Amino acid sequence: MSVRSILAVLCLAAAFSTPPGLFAQERPPNFVVIFADDLGYGDLAAYGHPTINTPNLDRMAAEGQRWTDFYVAASVCTPSRAGLITGRLPIRSGMMSYKSRVLFPDSTGGLPPSEITIAEVLKQKSYATAAVGKWHLGHLPQYLPTSQGFDSYFGIPYSNDMSRISPAPPRDQLWGEKSKSEYFNVPLMRNEEEIERPAHQPTLTKRYTDEAVKFIRAHREQPFFLYLPHSMVHVPLFRSPEFEGHSRRGLFGDALEEIDWSVGRILDTLEELGLERNTLVVFTSDNGPWLTFDEQGGSAGPLRMGKGSTWEGGMREPGLFWMPGTVKPGVVHGMGATLDLLPTFAAMAGVKAPDDRELDGYDLTPVLRGTGPSPRNEIFYYRGTDVWAARVGRYKAHFKTKSGYLKDPQLDHEPPLLFDLEADPGEKYDVAAEHPEAVAAIRRRVAEHRATVKPVKDQLADRTGR
Ligand code: MG
Repeated sequence: MSVRSILAVLCLAAAFSTPPGLFAQERPPNFVVIFADDLGYGDLAAYGHPTINTPNLDRMAAEGQRWTDFYVAASVCTPSRAGLITGRLPIRSGMMSYKSRVLFPDSTGGLPPSEITIAEVLKQKSYATAAVGKWHLGHLPQYLPTSQGFDSYFGIPYSNDMSRISPAPPRDQLWGEKSKSEYFNVPLMRNEEEIERPAHQPTLTKRYTDEAVKFIRAHREQPFFLYLPHSMVHVPLFRSPEFEGHSRRGLFGDALEEIDWSVGRILDTLEELGLERNTLVVFTSDNGPWLTFDEQGGSAGPLRMGKGSTWEGGMREPGLFWMPGTVKPGVVHGMGATLDLLPTFAAMAGVKAPDDRELDGYDLTPVLRGTGPSPRNEIFYYRGTDVWAARVGRYKAHFKTKSGYLKDPQLDHEPPLLFDLEADPGEKYDVAAEHPEAVAAIRRRVAEHRATVKPVKDQLADRTGR
């Protein structure tokens, strides 16, 4: 054991001050988090898409819970993932910045090892842990999954559109049906080793699925946590030959229907091994659709805007929870967030969540079991290091707005724009003048939140330029 890992274990022990056990069962449940990339609120049949077929995700929705107000921690990849895996808004770990929106192949930062991940929380009960897929929380050894509580890692360390060859092919060849893996010099890794470069992208979904199934089979006798962040449906879109022309929705639909097939294989494997009643499966995505890619981007359905923005389409996502016998089937309208997964899993596993730092998540088990309402009543929508919008109850105030990726100017709003998300989920009708009390309540909640945020090192700022 290296000095670094001994120190990490000591730090972890210090972070959990009370012994666990309150909710302890004989065998704590397994957790599987399936995380799509750049999938919009409107892209699943269960959320109303007319031409994309997602029978396995629809099955999760029908047999489990389909959440209508489920959010991510940020509207782009890196900070959204940092929020999910730590239960903390990415501002707290330095994983959100105005200097750079995400990590790049020449970035020198990453998720600080002092952060406590879901995998590390579950290690209190000796869970087997695996990360399979796109990491994007730092590609240097100290930031990789194997340094953050995961026993193993298989996948690409950042986005599949990065490390582009130079000169890049013209736009109509770089993206779409004519695209090739060779245009993106992205490594495929096993643990800390590069095993393929460029990663052959058409087979990524299939190979991630094979790894995931192999991990579940190998750990059938032991509690496990599988984190499965797919590379798709982030451009460039690829699918294996069996899925070419599979969907009426074109290339995007093909890639998404292959993810749905993958979900089916996970559910089937759990059932075959008799683990389905002791495994919570969660499906969501890291951020909304990348709208500037037109038909190669997804759809936010009735929501406004998409990836990169603090409008609902950037941060509200499909949220599916499945665990027959435990998760009470139905549609949930209460608020939830990826930030809530860490405290929820900790409660279900009977282990302590870290209590030596600010957490931004809530334990959602009462909602999952159907015994109570969601404890979450607010969402903070960060862009860079500032709160651009906040939701409290049904009302959302925007202090600043800008599209995700267009060249439009940033607009400051004083008084803020106010939308009633229950009556107007598409954020069309400003009701600030009619509801000054709602604006005042949101301002108070934002001020309370800001008082808890301490400055930390910006992990996204430093790049070597190489
Ligand atoms: Mg993304």
